[in-house]
This record gives sequence, C-alpha cells and structure tokens, in this order.
Amino acid sequence: MEISAIKFSDSLLLEVLALSKDATAVYDTADLHIRFANDAMIAIWGKSREVVGKTFEEAIPEIVGQPFTDLLKNTWHSGETYRAIDTPADLKVNGKLQTFYFDFEYRPLRNERGETFCILHTATDVTERVTSRKNIREYQRTEARLNHALEASNRDLSQINEELTFLSLENKKSIEQLALAKQATHLGLFDFDLVNNILEWDARCRELFGADPEKDIDYHADFVGGLHPEDRERAVRAVEESYDYKYSGGRYEIAFRTVHPQNKKITWVQAIGQVYFNASDQAQRFIGTVRDITAEKEAQLQLQQNESRLQEANEELFAINEEQTSVNEELRAAYDDLAHAQHELEYSKDKVTESENRLRSLLEQAPLGLCVLSGPEHVIEIANDRILKIWGRKGSDVIGKPHHLARPELIGQPVFEWLDTVYNTGTTKKNDEFKVLLYEPGGLREAIVNSIYQPIKNAQGETIGVMVMLDEVTDKIKARQEAFKVQEMFNLAVEAGELATYYYNPVSNLFTGNDLLKQWFGLSENDYIDLDIALAVMAPDDRSHVTASIIRALDYRFGGVYEEEYTIINPRTQERRIVRAKGRTFFDKNQRALSLNGTLQDITARKRDEQRKDDFIAMVSHELKTPLTSVNAYIQMLQAKAERNLDSFTAGALDKTARQVKKMTRMINGFLNVSRLESGNIHLQYELFQMSSLFAEIEEETHTTISSHNIIFHPSPDIQLYADKDKVGQVLSNLVSNAVKYSPAQLNVEVSCSEENGFVVVRVKDKGIGILEEDKQRLFDRYYRVSDNQTHTISGFGIGLYLSAEIIRLHKGHIGVHSDYGKGSEFFFSIPQVASPLNTN
Ligand code: ADP
Repeated sequence: MEISAIKFSDSLLLEVLALSKDATAVYDTADLHIRFANDAMIAIWGKSREVVGKTFEEAIPEIVGQPFTDLLKNTWHSGETYRAIDTPADLKVNGKLQTFYFDFEYRPLRNERGETFCILHTATDVTERVTSRKNIREYQRTEARLNHALEASNRDLSQINEELTFLSLENKKSIEQLALAKQATHLGLFDFDLVNNILEWDARCRELFGADPEKDIDYHADFVGGLHPEDRERAVRAVEESYDYKYSGGRYEIAFRTVHPQNKKITWVQAIGQVYFNASDQAQRFIGTVRDITAEKEAQLQLQQNESRLQEANEELFAINEEQTSVNEELRAAYDDLAHAQHELEYSKDKVTESENRLRSLLEQAPLGLCVLSGPEHVIEIANDRILKIWGRKGSDVIGKPHHLARPELIGQPVFEWLDTVYNTGTTKKNDEFKVLLYEPGGLREAIVNSIYQPIKNAQGETIGVMVMLDEVTDKIKARQEAFKVQEMFNLAVEAGELATYYYNPVSNLFTGNDLLKQWFGLSENDYIDLDIALAVMAPDDRSHVTASIIRALDYRFGGVYEEEYTIINPRTQERRIVRAKGRTFFDKNQRALSLNGTLQDITARKRDEQRKDDFIAMVSHELKTPLTSVNAYIQMLQAKAERNLDSFTAGALDKTARQVKKMTRMINGFLNVSRLESGNIHLQYELFQMSSLFAEIEEETHTTISSHNIIFHPSPDIQLYADKDKVGQVLSNLVSNAVKYSPAQLNVEVSCSEENGFVVVRVKDKGIGILEEDKQRLFDRYYRVSDNQTHTISGFGIGLYLSAEIIRLHKGHIGVHSDYGKGSEFFFSIPQVASPLNTN
C-alpha cells in the first residue's frame, strides 16, 4: 500500500516536475538509476528520451571521470543537499564535446526512516553568464594593456613636444644669429630703377660712400663722384658692361675704393649686383649689395708684402745655404784628408808591426840557428829556438848575458876569438864543417857545424854587434860517412861475390852497370845502352819472361821486386853465361818507377852442377823403377797367396809393404817428373770432367792412406773443367799431404772448391806450423825446403810444390799461399775453367 501510495505521489510529482522550466532529473537508486528527466535536462545533456531507465553514467558516458557521479553518490549516502554554481561540465552535445557551466543542486529525498529514496537534480545552464563574465575580464585586460600603451605613447609625445620646444628655441636663435651675421657682414643694399633713374641706397651703402643718410642719391654725384680716382673708370665701365645683356648677362661684380667726401678715408668695397632686363634686352633695374672689404684688402696687401719679404728672406737664406754648402765641402775635403792621413798612419803602423812580426817569425822559423850579439861583450840580444837547441841552452838562461858567460863550454875553443875578431875588424867570418864541443845536460858533445859571423853596423859604419848564423850538420856528415862506408862494403861484396851491378832508368830506358856487367854484356867503358840492346844479349828463349818480369817489377802494385835467371851470350866472344838477376825498383811519391837497380850473379857453374845432379837423380830414379815394379808384382802375388792360405799376419805385413812401395814409387815418380819437366817432356792430357768427381776420388784416396788428421772435403759445386784431371788431382793430393805433414795430428784440414770469375779455385787449409813471410816466395822453387827446428824431422825433397806450381803454370793458372806463421796455412790454386793447351814452344 505504502509503495502504491508512494508511486502515486511519485508520478504526480513527476508530472509537476515535467512542467517545470528548470532542468530536472530524478535518480531513484543508489547506483543513480534515472527515474525521470524533463526535456530541459535532456537538452542540457544533449541526449534523447532513451536516457530514462539507464544509470547516470550509462546515459552520459562522457561524465565518467568528472566529479558528478561521486557527488551524487555522496548525496545519496549522506542525505545532505549539494549545491554549486558556475561549475564546468564537459558534455557531448550535437556530437561535440563542449564545456558548459551550471548552477546546480542535488537534493536527496528521504522517507520517514531517514533513508534516501531519490535525488532531485535541478540545474541551470549559466554558460552564457560565465562566458560574458570571462569576456568582460578579457576586455578589462585589453583595456589595461591599451592604457599602458597609451601611457607610453603619451610619454613619447611629451618628449617630442619637449624636442619641438627646443627646436623652436633653436630656430629663434638661428634667426637672431642670422641678424647678427648680417650685422657683422655689414652688407649694404642698392636698388637702381633705371627706367625712372631713381637710385636708392640703404644706410650701410651710404656709410660706405660717405653719403648723407637723408638726401636723394644721384648716380653721378654720389656713386661716380664717391669712387677713388684710380678706380673710377674701371668701376663705371663695369656698371655699363652689366647693362649689356649680351656681354654680361647682367652680372656685376667688382671691388673698388671709395673716398669719404669729408674725412677722405679710403674704403675698399666689394659690389655684387644683377641687372634685370625687359623682353627687348633693355636694362630695367639694377639691384645689388656692397660690402666693406678694407680689412681683407689690407690683410691681402700685408700678405703680399709678407710674401715678398719672405721671398727676399728665402733668397738670402739660399745665399747663406750656398755659402754653407761650400764651407761644408771644404770641411769635408779637409776631413777626408785627415781620414786619409790617419789611414796612412795606421797603414804604416801596421806595416811596421807587420815587418817586425815578419822579422821575428823569419828569425824563429829560419832553417838556421840565428843569434844577435851586441857590443864588445857580445851580449846575447836575440837567439832563435834552433840556435838554442844547438847550444843546448834555454832562452831564459842566456838572453841578456855576455856570450862568454852564457856559454862557458867554449873556453879553450876558437869561437870567442873569432867573435872578437869580427867585432874589431868588421869583417865576416865563415867556417865549414868544423868540429866543436857543445853543451848538453850532463856534459859535452861533439858536433859539426857550418857557421857565419857577420858584423852588424850602424849608420856611421861602425860595428855595434855580431850576428851569428849556425847550421849543425853532424847528422848529415855522419850519414855521409855511413853511406860511404856502405858503398865501400858493397863494392867489396860485389868484388868478392863476383857480382855485376846494373842500373836501369825506366824514364830514359838506359841501362848500365859496373865494369863486370859491361864486360859480360860486351860494353865499352862509358857505354849506356837501351834496355832493348841489353835484352838482345840474352838467349832468345829468355827474353820474353825477363821482359815480363821487368814490367812487373816496375809496377808499384807488385812491390818492385825483381828476380830472374837467364842466359846471356857475350856479343864479342859468344861466351854463354847463366846469371841470376836480382833487383829492386825505387818509386817516387806518385808511385812512378824512378830506377831498377840490382846485381847479376854468374851461376853457370852451379847450374852445371845442378844439371849433373838432376841427371844423376833421373838416372837413379829410372833405374829404381824397374826393380820396384817387380817388387810390386811379387807383393801382389804373395798377397793373393796369403789370402788363399788365410794367413792374416802375412797378408797384413804385405799390405804395409805394399803401402811403403807405393810411397817409394810416388817419390821416384816425383823425381822422374822433375827431370821430365826440366827436359820439357811433360804433356797435359786434356779432358772434360766434373770437379765433384775429382774431389770424390781424392777424398777416397786420402781416407784410405791418412788416418792421423780429420780431413774435411766441403762438397764441390757443380763445376765442369777442361784440364788434365790426373795432374790436377796430383796437385790437390800433394797439397793435402803437405797440410797433413806440416800440422800436428788430430787437427782439421779443410778442402774446398769454388768458381770465381771463370776460374776454378781450390783451397786447402790447415792449422799447422805456418810459413814465414820470407819463405813464401821460394816454397815453389825446386828442392826448396824450409829448414827450422820444426821441419828438419819431417822428410821430403822439396819437389812437391815445385811440380804443383809447374802443372798449374802449364794450365795457365796461378798457385799461392796465405799463411800466418804458427797458426796455419792456406794453399790455393786457380785454373781457367776452360784451360786450353799451353803452347810450350
Ligand atoms: P817437401 O814437403 O817434400 O819438403 P814441398 O815442395 O811439398 O816439399 O814443400 C816445400 C816446403 O814448403 C816444405 O819443406 C815445407 O817447409 C813447406 N810447406 C809445404 N806445405 C806446407 C804447409 N802446409 N805448412 C807449412 N809448411 C809447408
């Protein structure tokens, strides 16, 4: 019942509300279910009737997030009415979200139990009011801004006003200044009516002409009459010319003088005017100004006067200048003379110093000992270093002292007497190579000197001192005596050794020698012969090698040593003589040969003996060969037998025997080879072979025969050689066996081979006893052996190297040795890679 009663009153109420013009809505649940909304409220919301029955937020979705839902709910629960004015709400009206302003009220309606059963929501749209109020505020702000701007421009304006005031003040000042200026310039005005012949002058104009201020002005009386007589004609003519339009265009400008009629004061006036013409060029009116220019004229005059005075002064100055210049020139000339004189003075002073210095250094550097003694006491004034050295004295000990006190060692010798004689007689004394006893620390020494005692005379020819020149020749004399002795001994030696001596001058190509040489070469006593003639005396076979050897000896690079053996045939007696020539070349400092001098020794007899010995050796060797061959054959047979019988002792003994026989055979072959070589019976068997194969053979051979040393064969490079393989092998094995022979056991011997500039070079290096420099040259001679403590126990005949050298020579090669005595030797030979048979003829 109650509900229906409520319902009733409710719907009644709603009808009433629907009629209300105020926007009204009713929410009847706590979650704000819209029970009712009148048209005005629906219009505010911008929605349709469908909102009724929905909740507040369903109906107006854009309201979510705005404070209204919470406010309504709060109203529901608190039961207190909520009112607000000018409240903005964002609503979507006509599909556009806009802000509206509202005055509104949420009024809860409660039952008798105090529970809210609905909220009555009334609202008034006050958007217009709010916005107009906002606009008013905006206007007010704009107005304030404008006012502000206005104030600013007012300020500007007042500033401008101030400036204007200032300017007008300035203007006034200018006008005043103008008046003042006019006053100051004192311009006078004239106005001549030419048609009516009326001339008007203002006060100033009248003043300038001395005319009465009141009276009428007459052109002739006042103007022409007021002019200075000297200027009158000119001034009048100028006026008349200005009337002629064609001539002047009416322009008038002139300066003239006026003469005051009373006080006769003269005034300079500048007049400027213009004539006006009618259409037919007739002068109508003449207007112009006049100005007092007396002061300017005076100033000008003064200026002119000044100028002319200046001119005069300048001229005077010029004259003075000229005078001064000429004085200056004189002065300069005088100064130049002075400078020149001074220069001369300095120059001559320099000259004196220079000549003094020269004299001093002359004395100092003189190659002679020099001293100057003054007065009868012979006081030592000057003594150069050289004389002090000869005297054995120090300068500080003798300078300033009388000579006989300074050098007491001369007491008892003739020097003091000579000095007195020279001083007293004024004549020069000379001595050559005289012996004198001179002082030396701790005693006296014998010296030989050359000396000159020369009197020193003054301008009057009187002797005032003695100059002594001393040259010690002790060493020279001793050397001369020595040389003489040497020459003597040499001559004795030459005589004793039956040596011929020769002297050859390569520059003149002349050859001569001692008597023996002349005898051998069939020369008469004073003969100098060309070298060619000397060579012609030699056996033809020897000429080429002797020539080559001489050329070599004259070449500085080869040391200048000469040694040859050759046969000479006396051109008179046809006697043959084998000689050994030795010599040495002397070179100048440019290494040019000056002379080749030496000796010749007759070795014919020795050669003959050697030949006999060689023949004997050859014969014996030959004879030994046959039995040795059969011994060898028997040994081989016995060896075969011992092997068959398994007799190892006999086999071993035979092995050793065979080795000894081989050694013996090699020795004998050596001798035979020598004799063959001597008789020219060795011939080379050329063949093409690899160096490495020769190396391999010799290595094999040495390893079977030598166990005492460590022999290292460095691998030979791939070199092909065209030569006598057996003989080259013989040379190599000879060098290896020497290296072994002449070095302590267990040491290394190194064998190597290389190719250098088309030559095959073989080297055998040992660490043995080495060879002295003086032996090196002769090692390759026949039968030459070094004989010292180390070598005399080592067996040999001195033919190995000789044969080797000959074999290499036949191959057109070269053999040599580098050695450090006591450290070891390196023997080497080189042969051209393609050796061609030597022409033995
Ligand atoms: P041999 O050895 O039979 O005396 P060689 O003609 O072979 O004759 O040698 C001549 C001399 O050269 C020797 O006597 C020796 O004094 C010296 N000689 C040769 N080879 C060497 C060497 N490797 N080291 C030192 N001296 C050597």
